[in-house]
Formats: sequence, structure tokens, C-alpha cells
Amino acid sequence: MPEETKMGCCCPGDGDVHSEPEKRLGWHEYFMSVAQLISRRATCTRGHIGAVIVRDHSILSTGYNGAPAGLPHCNDSNCRIYRSTHPDGTVEENCVNTIHAEINAIAQAAKHGVCIKDSDIYITASPCIHCLKVLINVGIKTIYYDKPYKIEHIDELLRLSGIRLVQVNMVDNQKE
Ligand SMILES: [Zn+2]
Ligand SMILES: [Zn+2]
Repeated sequence: MPEETKMGCCCPGDGDVHSEPEKRLGWHEYFMSVAQLISRRATCTRGHIGAVIVRDHSILSTGYNGAPAGLPHCNDSNCRIYRSTHPDGTVEENCVNTIHAEINAIAQAAKHGVCIKDSDIYITASPCIHCLKVLINVGIKTIYYDKPYKIEHIDELLRLSGIRLVQVNMVDNQKE
């Protein structure tokens, strides 16, 4: 009988059957992984971004980049690109159809009356300067991002506003 009990046990770390117990995700990896999954719903062909707004380890709202509800998405029609010039002379391109992921997460919270003051946000890419301004004003404390995006434009705003920007290293996760 003791033999049978041992064979039937599925507890990790019980020995022979399991080579290595699966590593438990940390909070940053967990929320960034959710953001990465959400980014797969994005419709702008220029890039797929996901965002998750979090407070006290709970997800309050989510968003991905795409056209407003009911309007044609870029993957069905086409991106419509416009150019703008920053005060420092650099030219950036954006898609006129698209709402960025972090703004869609804020819109979802507003639509359903969810307070996001003093929360954090996980975004698969760092926010553009336009989204950063809104993140500051809705009371986001810390922005966690995976990949840098137009990050050279937001230095001054970060410094003056005091909002925190932290890169979450997802490299190890992506190898698996
Ligand atoms: Zn587009
Ligand atoms: Zn943006």
C-alpha cells in the first residue's frame, strides 16, 4: 500500500516523476505576462501593445492598441500614418486610427467607474509622451514596461512629474 500511495502522488518535489518543479511567477512577471497576452488582441499593424492597470496585486483594467469601437481596424483596412515634429527637431510617426493601449485601459476604467488613482500600470512598451501626460493626471504611481519606445522624449516629463518608470526584465521568460 505505501508503494501505491507514492506512485499516485502528484505533489511537486516528491521525487522521481518530476524533474524540476515549475518556477512560480513573481508579481512583475505575472502582470507583464498578462500585458503580453493582451497585446495579442491589438489591431494596429505598426505594433501590438498591451496594458494592465493594477493596485494591491489586483487587475483593475486592461487595454490594447486599436481603433475606437465600431471603426475599421488597421488590420482590416490600413494604418493611416501622420508625422509630427518634436521641439528638438525629431520627426515621429503615428497611426491616426489608433488609441494607444494605456489610454484604452484608462478608458475601460472610466467607462465602468473603476477608480485607478494611486495604481500602477504594466505596459509591454514604455509610454509615448502623449500617453505619459495622461498617466500622470489619472494618478498612476509607477509605470512598469518591457521594451523601450520613443523613450528619449519623456525624460523631462518623468523628472518634473515624479512618476516612476521601471523596466521589467522579461528576457528569461521569453527564452522559455
Ligand atoms: Zn494603425
Ligand atoms: Zn502612447
